[in-house]
Amino acid sequence: MSDLRDLYQEVILDHNRRPRNWGAIDAPDRAADGYNPLCGDKLRLTLRMEGDRIADLKFEGSGCAISKASASLMTDLVKGKTMPEAEDLVDKLQAMVTAPMDKPEEDAALGKLAVLSGVREFPARVKCATLAWHTLRAALEGEVAASTE
Ligand code: ZN
Repeated sequence: MSDLRDLYQEVILDHNRRPRNWGAIDAPDRAADGYNPLCGDKLRLTLRMEGDRIADLKFEGSGCAISKASASLMTDLVKGKTMPEAEDLVDKLQAMVTAPMDKPEEDAALGKLAVLSGVREFPARVKCATLAWHTLRAALEGEVAASTE
């Protein structure tokens, strides 16, 4: 178990040090800002869509290692996914990090994101881990709300 914890820590540190998909997309199809006042994490997410598929997405901002690593992992995982697939992952992530400690919430679809389940031990950090995901949902739903379909 402690080996697993070391591995988790390593993944978070690695993504914090070298965040994937860092930056901003020029003329994005969707964008949203996320802010976690409890910790001071801020991020801006920009997306390029092809139909209902997330063709590309980037993020930038400032925040703690967990918020940054979570955003980095999120962008890696949802790139190329359809909107319903991405929204489903948001739900799964939320369920995982808020599950009771005695009931491990494991989901193969989340893959490397399992590293974020460690925040369940630190309730104050849950919002750090979910910030990028809430921001993704906001970006996706913003456009849906404006859609005429
Ligand atoms: Zn934070």
